[in-house]
Amino acid sequence: MAEKKNSIKEKLLLEALDKQYLWHPFTQMQEYRQLTPLIIERGSGSYLYDIEGNRYIDGVSSLWVTIHGHRKKQIDTAIIRQVKKISHSTLLGLTNAPAIKLAQKLVAIAPRGLTKVFYSDNGSTAVEVALKIAFQFWQQSSRAARGKKTFVTLHNAYHGDTLGSVSVGGIELFHRIYKPLLFKTYKADAPYCYRCPLQLHYPSCKIECLNSLEKTLKKHHAEIAALIMEPLVQGAAGMIVFPRGYVKAARELCTRYQILFIADEVAVGFGRTGKMFACEHENVRPDLMAIAKGITGGTLPLAATLATDTIYDAFLGEVQDLKTFYHGHTYTGNPVACAAALANLAVFEQERVLDALQLKIKLLKKKLKAFYNLSHVGDVRQCGFMVGIELVEDRDSKKPYPLQKKIGQRVILEARRRGVIIRPLGDVIVLMPPLSISARELEKLTDVVYESIQFVTEK
Ligand code: PMP
Repeated sequence: MAEKKNSIKEKLLLEALDKQYLWHPFTQMQEYRQLTPLIIERGSGSYLYDIEGNRYIDGVSSLWVTIHGHRKKQIDTAIIRQVKKISHSTLLGLTNAPAIKLAQKLVAIAPRGLTKVFYSDNGSTAVEVALKIAFQFWQQSSRAARGKKTFVTLHNAYHGDTLGSVSVGGIELFHRIYKPLLFKTYKADAPYCYRCPLQLHYPSCKIECLNSLEKTLKKHHAEIAALIMEPLVQGAAGMIVFPRGYVKAARELCTRYQILFIADEVAVGFGRTGKMFACEHENVRPDLMAIAKGITGGTLPLAATLATDTIYDAFLGEVQDLKTFYHGHTYTGNPVACAAALANLAVFEQERVLDALQLKIKLLKKKLKAFYNLSHVGDVRQCGFMVGIELVEDRDSKKPYPLQKKIGQRVILEARRRGVIIRPLGDVIVLMPPLSISARELEKLTDVVYESIQFVTEK
């Protein structure tokens, strides 16, 4: 009894301190402070447990990172084993075994041609590194290429929150305010088939939106260092799935116009789309690839930027040649995070995770069909284990809900009451369960989301 009283006291205290001291990311704090914070205490498999012991399915893999479920034994053990040796040593002038072995492993599984690994801490830094490498690569190439100083990006792109990655972003809501701080980029149409900018239909459109990219490259290639894109799925834009062939065609355009192709696999990498990397679906070989999120199976922050030999070689020379890549974060190549990533990749192999995933992707597809029975579901998009359900006020005109109705937010709070944690992107309901989720849990997850959308939009 006394114990219970103490734990209630502790919960109330933490709730008050959270509101007093924490500033949460991507959160309107005025609104947040009116709600009761949900304090997560532990996790196991597909579940999160709050401080009162209530259990929830982790429907977004703790922001798209958890791969084999929480408390995966092999990963936890690898972390503990490494902590007992050393938690951190620097990669500036020194090296460490987990960082070396992981680099070798990443090169082995990455699309062919990517042979060098530069570590950092998160998706945004992995993108920053790719942008700076691409820029510097051309500066250190032939004199004729030195005008290649800017980038092409796609509308609705999201590549992170640091200023370089915001510069190559294209989400008005997040990025507008920072415009005076950003460097100039060229923007090309992105395929958003549900709201096609050209008002065409796939496949009869023959992916006409590519023309916008081609025109930009044709006209400005002498100024452009690289194209950056999220292959196959624009995640933060609302899980917008590209029509088949877009990524491959974009890659070919880059080759034709001598522009580097940067694949931002931060969200789509590590099995999310049904293959280890999204580029594999279309046999695309990027010049640079940014990875993060799922790299440690959702346990510790780690990221990497992979590059080709051609790019790496352009940075070689004597110190006085000033070709060095002067970039590095303090925790670069952290041995504990690298040990976790190695264990994560070992589980992929030992448990044949990608093979087991295929049936679950089919089950998910089947369950999602029913969502069109809901009158405010405008579009249901799925690529592997990435799902976006776009809610609209009026299905015929595709009219969105007004922002102040906070429909997406209301749906996720309803789902929470029913034992499921999800997070929306505006009025797009996102499902991104751990790859290890069981068929039964997947059915529960989709059933709860269905009921929650129905409850909020139809009752
Ligand atoms: N690129 C993509 C495609 C992403 O989805 C994200 C994060 N959602 C990032 C980059 C930035 O990653 P981070 O939040 O780890 O900085």
